[in-house]
Amino acid sequence: MSHEYDGIILGTGHNALVLQAYMARSGLRVLAVDRALVPGGGLATIENPRVPGFRHNTHSFFHRALTAMPWYRDLELERHGAHYIEPELNIALILPDGRALEWWTNFEKTVESFGEFSKKDAASLRRWVEEFRPIVERILIPEAQSPPLPPDERRELLGRSPLGRRLLEVAALSPLEFVIREFEHDVVRAGLLFFNGLREIDLRLAGFGQSIPALLAGRHLAQMCEGGSANLAQALVKDIREHGSEVLTGVEIERILVRSGRVTGIRLAGGETINAKAFVASGLNPQQTFLQMLDADAVRTDIRDKAAGFQYNTLAPLFTLNLALHEPPLFSAAEQRPELNRAFMVIVGLERFAQFHDIVAAHERGEIPGTVMWGACPTLFDAGQAPPGKHTAFMWEKVPYALRGSPSNWEAEKETHGKTLFNVLARFAPNLRQQVVIDSFTRSPVDTERAFPNMKFGDLLVGSFANNQIGSNRPFPGAGSYRTPVEGLYLCGGSTHPGGNITGLCGYNAARVLASDLGLPVWWNPPQLNPESI
Ligand SMILES: Cc1cc2nc3c(=O)[nH]c(=O)nc-3n(C[C@H](O)[C@H](O)[C@H](O)COP(=O)(O)OP(=O)(O)OC[C@H]3O[C@@H](n4cnc5c(N)ncnc54)[C@H](O)[C@@H]3O)c2cc1C
Repeated sequence: MSHEYDGIILGTGHNALVLQAYMARSGLRVLAVDRALVPGGGLATIENPRVPGFRHNTHSFFHRALTAMPWYRDLELERHGAHYIEPELNIALILPDGRALEWWTNFEKTVESFGEFSKKDAASLRRWVEEFRPIVERILIPEAQSPPLPPDERRELLGRSPLGRRLLEVAALSPLEFVIREFEHDVVRAGLLFFNGLREIDLRLAGFGQSIPALLAGRHLAQMCEGGSANLAQALVKDIREHGSEVLTGVEIERILVRSGRVTGIRLAGGETINAKAFVASGLNPQQTFLQMLDADAVRTDIRDKAAGFQYNTLAPLFTLNLALHEPPLFSAAEQRPELNRAFMVIVGLERFAQFHDIVAAHERGEIPGTVMWGACPTLFDAGQAPPGKHTAFMWEKVPYALRGSPSNWEAEKETHGKTLFNVLARFAPNLRQQVVIDSFTRSPVDTERAFPNMKFGDLLVGSFANNQIGSNRPFPGAGSYRTPVEGLYLCGGSTHPGGNITGLCGYNAARVLASDLGLPVWWNPPQLNPESI
């Protein structure tokens, strides 16, 4: 490691690595620095320390439409060893009476499954997919893959075309209103909200009515990285190193250094200084970047106040049960529907639309809601994630960060709560007796925050979409286009547009802004959102 680079990036989450790879391919020498021992942030796969050979994806696992991301192609990640699987029966909501709402990569099979619950809902599904596909492809995808436009400019641009006006009209609803208005069956309504909404945004928020039809109309569903999510991070690191840049892990960053209003580098906890000739970019959250890492006099007070006011999702934190198994879960419902034993994402405990209100109310009270959980058995699709013939599985559940008023209550609760999840799963998959379990461990929202402090309050999306924290106002007005008020300091993590999850688009868009500011040639082909195309 040297003591001077063209650029320094804080954190090695996937967005940081995507930005670094584009800058490295643009000819800059860039260093990415992380406190974690392994690069990749949420692209984490760990070897079970008690039973070797079992690999667990302790953070992200379902990577939606990842192979369609422009950076996946531009950075030649398959050449660097990344491979993705998109299982056919992509999502199954299994009901206690053996019925299942199924979501297939083959759209006709999904329509058929919806039709088993309601013919009217099956017709609505088809109608919305047909209507929204051009909106997704000509507006929403280019928008997510570009630096955000200011809200007035965006509204004016969308208002110029029928597709844009339709998008604005649907967006004015909340996801809840959309589902109630367009679908009639209780299970379909519950399933749609869960498949599409609960992971991403507060379903009660007006202004997000497009989220469900947009997800319905997407061409790709959930995908998994062969070998484990960490393989995607490794492929990114390979590309970075191949282009002469470096990744440094296991070190604490103490300060972002600023002289005369311009960023000059960073100081590590040991006192070592590393200079950045052109830029420093932060893949961390706004409180870390503006309040912890910068001296108070390096940023205006109003910016510090805005950073302090950045909000996190109440409904995002997860509890996880990880299992190492002798055999995969075998669902009793599969006696009637054999395909369920090959379902990728499995949801259990969800039967009624009204459960959403119960889940929200429990979160607001700081209590664990009635168990609704989802997960997968990765080894059904990728046998290499466990020793021969053995399996891994996991289940996730949305739970409050401050349990009964305090996050510290999770430590005492974890083991018992893990047993609750196991027992619920075993009711659906009765072969899961204790003898089938080789090992298990749990993770609470506090463990998430401990591993990745940028996921404050266990918010895995690194910031809410409420509080107007979207588009060019994400994380807050004045820092919403990856640029900050400190010259040479940029943002690139999930707290920026288009937000958390494994999309890599925060880093991808930040690369375009940096290339423009630094006068670098744009060697890739970013999409353009313009009136002619919509
Ligand atoms: C249990 C769980 C399950 C999830 N499942 C999915 C899923 O299936 N699909 C999906 O799309 N998303 C999922 N996510 C969300 C996804 O992991 C995140 O939204 C995503 O990783 C955010 O990416 P990022 O680039 O902002 O950085 P992150 O992945 O959050 O990485 C940030 C990096 O910064 C480092 N860092 C933090 N603080 C400091 C500091 N002070 N100094 C130096 N380095 C620091 C961290 O060590 C980390 O490496 C899940 C998250 C969790 C917790």
